[in-house]
Amino acid sequence: MSTLPYAGARVAFATMHGKEQLAQGPFYDTLGAGVVAPTGLDTDQFGTFSGEIVRTLSPRAAAQVKARLGMHLADTPYGLASEGSFSSGLGFLVEHHEVLLFIDEIRGLELVEATIATSPLPPARPIATVDAALTYATAIGYPAQGLILRGGAAGEIIHKNLNSLEALRSAMSQLLLHTPGRPIVISPDYRAHRCASRAAVIITLAENMARRLATPCARCHTPGFGQVGIERGLPCSDCGEPTRVIAADIFGCGNCPHTLRTARASRVAAPQWCDSCNP
Ligand SMILES: [Zn+2]
Ligand SMILES: [Zn+2]
Repeated sequence: MSTLPYAGARVAFATMHGKEQLAQGPFYDTLGAGVVAPTGLDTDQFGTFSGEIVRTLSPRAAAQVKARLGMHLADTPYGLASEGSFSSGLGFLVEHHEVLLFIDEIRGLELVEATIATSPLPPARPIATVDAALTYATAIGYPAQGLILRGGAAGEIIHKNLNSLEALRSAMSQLLLHTPGRPIVISPDYRAHRCASRAAVIITLAENMARRLATPCARCHTPGFGQVGIERGLPCSDCGEPTRVIAADIFGCGNCPHTLRTARASRVAAPQWCDSCNP
């Protein structure tokens, strides 16, 4: 273990919602590192899913600020933070962007693993009855999956720590009394400890990050060599013009300019993706 760069390191995961438990397995198994949650951390000050505090920073910037605060509180040079965002655009699908950021203050490293997934949970919905609330709740797997209820004359009453059907029924009945002539909005709670599908995404990113930290740069030997981008432009199989299809993955170092290009398995793209053949 002693050859691993982070063996015995203590990494602070800036979270109030148990995310340290999601990274502990991958970071210990792959790196021999421990992951802790700093005490006394208030990540809600950077914005909440339920909207009491509006997010003003970009996801990456918010993760940077949180990670640094966690490192300060836990008094360690190694930090993790993740930031999720959920958008439902037009249709019924909710797009889940998740960013996991790692900071190594000693080596001056800041690395990001990110993913875009389709959330299995439905978007927020206006409801008008207790039955509608119970139907939505059952469909998303409540109470294991958390939910958020918002009502009141100006949407100022927010319930997000409900834990049983009885609690949901009584909160909804109360809201109906205090929300005259306005819709009550029900939505999934995306906080990691109340959202197994998001927790699974964070585990995958933690596994990717641990693997990346176990991979040294071939040139400068700094840990953290991994994917930094993609290259589009796979040629069309009919006309040979470059398409938007991904042609290669680009791997890079967080310390020096060394990069590596790995071509994807397919050599050509179907003409359906070609702007020349199929405009
Ligand atoms: Zn073509
Ligand atoms: Zn390097």
